[in-house]
Amino acid sequence: MKAKQKSMLLRIIVASALLIALVVSPVTGYLRLGLFLIPYLIVGYDILLKAAKGISNGRIFDENFLMTVATLGAIAIALYDNTGDYTEAVAVMLFYQIGEWFQGYAVGKSRKNISQLMDIRPDYANIERDGKLVKVDPDEIKVGDTIVVQPGEKVPLDGIVIEGQSNLNTSALTGESLPRPIGVNDEITSGCINLSGLLKIKTTKLFGDSTVSQILELVENASSRKSRSEAFITRFARVYTPIVFFSALALAIIPPLVRLFGMGIDAQWDDWIYRALVFLVISCPCALVISIPLSFFAGIGGASNQGILVKGSNYLENLSQTKVLVFDKTGTLTEGVFEVVGIHHNKIQEKKLLELAALAESASSHPISKSLQKAYGLPLNRQRIKDIQEIGGEGVIAQIDELQIAAGNEKLMNRLHVKPLACHSVGTIVHVAINGEYSGHIVIADRIKAHAKEAIEAVKKAGVKKTVMLTGDSKMVAERVAKELGIDEVRSELMPSDKVRIVEELIAQNPSHGKLAFVGDGINDAPVLSRADIGIAMGAMGSDAAIEAADVVLMDDDPIKIAKGIKISRKCLAIVKENIWFAIGIKVACLILGALGLANMWMAIFADVGVMILAILNAIRALFVKNL
Ligand code: ADP
Ligand code: MG
Repeated sequence: MKAKQKSMLLRIIVASALLIALVVSPVTGYLRLGLFLIPYLIVGYDILLKAAKGISNGRIFDENFLMTVATLGAIAIALYDNTGDYTEAVAVMLFYQIGEWFQGYAVGKSRKNISQLMDIRPDYANIERDGKLVKVDPDEIKVGDTIVVQPGEKVPLDGIVIEGQSNLNTSALTGESLPRPIGVNDEITSGCINLSGLLKIKTTKLFGDSTVSQILELVENASSRKSRSEAFITRFARVYTPIVFFSALALAIIPPLVRLFGMGIDAQWDDWIYRALVFLVISCPCALVISIPLSFFAGIGGASNQGILVKGSNYLENLSQTKVLVFDKTGTLTEGVFEVVGIHHNKIQEKKLLELAALAESASSHPISKSLQKAYGLPLNRQRIKDIQEIGGEGVIAQIDELQIAAGNEKLMNRLHVKPLACHSVGTIVHVAINGEYSGHIVIADRIKAHAKEAIEAVKKAGVKKTVMLTGDSKMVAERVAKELGIDEVRSELMPSDKVRIVEELIAQNPSHGKLAFVGDGINDAPVLSRADIGIAMGAMGSDAAIEAADVVLMDDDPIKIAKGIKISRKCLAIVKENIWFAIGIKVACLILGALGLANMWMAIFADVGVMILAILNAIRALFVKNL
């Protein structure tokens, strides 16, 4: 608990004790008032100050103002009626503060929970200096430096393992609890915990660009992107409080005046003013104002615990309304790790063709290029390469040893006026042309991700009406994958710009006002990610551009997490709606009772604090999403 919360608790306890003592004490007159003012001021002085500050700033109508008017009014009535019963005024202030304390506690607690969930920030990096390990600030490490990560330590920067073998706990990033084995030449992501062996890592990114920094930045900024529900509540509170205040004023003035002048009977000022004060206490909008952002906050926290990063509550809200889900193929539904299954019609030696293709691909980040380099297996002499040109959705053209090498699909061959030979194997075909002459093709095959079929079934169960796959790959491969996975609609042989156009068409066609989400790895599809209502990116495999352009990032690239994310968002939005209806419903009922004179201030404060506490407890449910 923070110091501020501790002192608040102390004030609440002292004021309660004093109040109980005073209720039974026989003192009367102004001394009694003076004594009651002590617990009143102990527990409520900050509310009075805030109300005064609000008035002097011209921002009058807030809950501090409502509480101040209500409690001071109750004291004035007790004075006027000469009852000496100031208990109510003090108690109202006391309960209001108990509610505030509870709220602060709950918010602090859920924030802490979330930052614990996200406990991935490394405090140091180890480097070797004169044979000894030295701890340094991860910010000081440069790209290409060698760092050492001992068992039990967090990996501070992204890099490649150059020595050692170990298992990693990636749960903080992915929600996956099984350890992942890692060895020499494997890429390693910051934020994982090294479990067993000593690892030496050559860094590939600065700390600020490493996964861990990017994730923390995303999560820290998430609360600044407000959902429509939140924006609604802020606007609501702004008009609501003055309306309530002036209604209370009318309640205090009009009925007595009507009685006095209209009916010629006793005005009963004190009775009507009291009803107006009860009205004010009841109407305090705290439960709504606090529980809705808290629900979203908890929902985002719960999702990130599962390896689903949502960049703001507006995206969580959109995600809950997803009706159309559009997928990219390579790297999204398939592993994006291709195996060479054949080399056909080659005019030169197979190994030579593969070498030239791998060289030409050496600067591309496309999964195909990585796979070709891996298939070639030997180190590449990059000095032989000049002038690489990559054409998205087609392939690459490069100058190698004075030869022009083109590697890509039919479209690329057509661009160079080379006639490609058809291939009878099913797979992705990389045609190769040397100096504008057809020189054979490499057939590569990708594997469908383990959970892809399950993922499609799960999103349909979660309420998605239509699934579409868009790919730049050939029709044959695309249709086979779509059929195997049960995807409703396929479009193949697309250029990156076609994908944007089709997504726009699908958004326009979408009748039910549901949202369209696009899932991709960002290689050739970053523009679609930002064009869709919700862009979902593969975080581990995906390019930095994808993670930047996307609204939701799946840390472990597992498509099954899409359905999970939708379910989490639905649960969170359901909680938000419950809270809105519950709080407004109870308030309206109490307001009517208060205006009719059937509610007193005790009931009013219990309604206010009670509703708030229940709404907060309900909001915190959004954090627990394990079994969705
Ligand atoms: P997807 O939509 O399935 O993710 P892309 O748009 O990334 O596919 O690529 C579409 C097609 O373009 C690939 O199937 C391949 O034929 C060709 N292609 C794209 N980039 C390359 C590359 N670097 N090397 C070879 N072929 C490529
Ligand atoms: Mg792709």
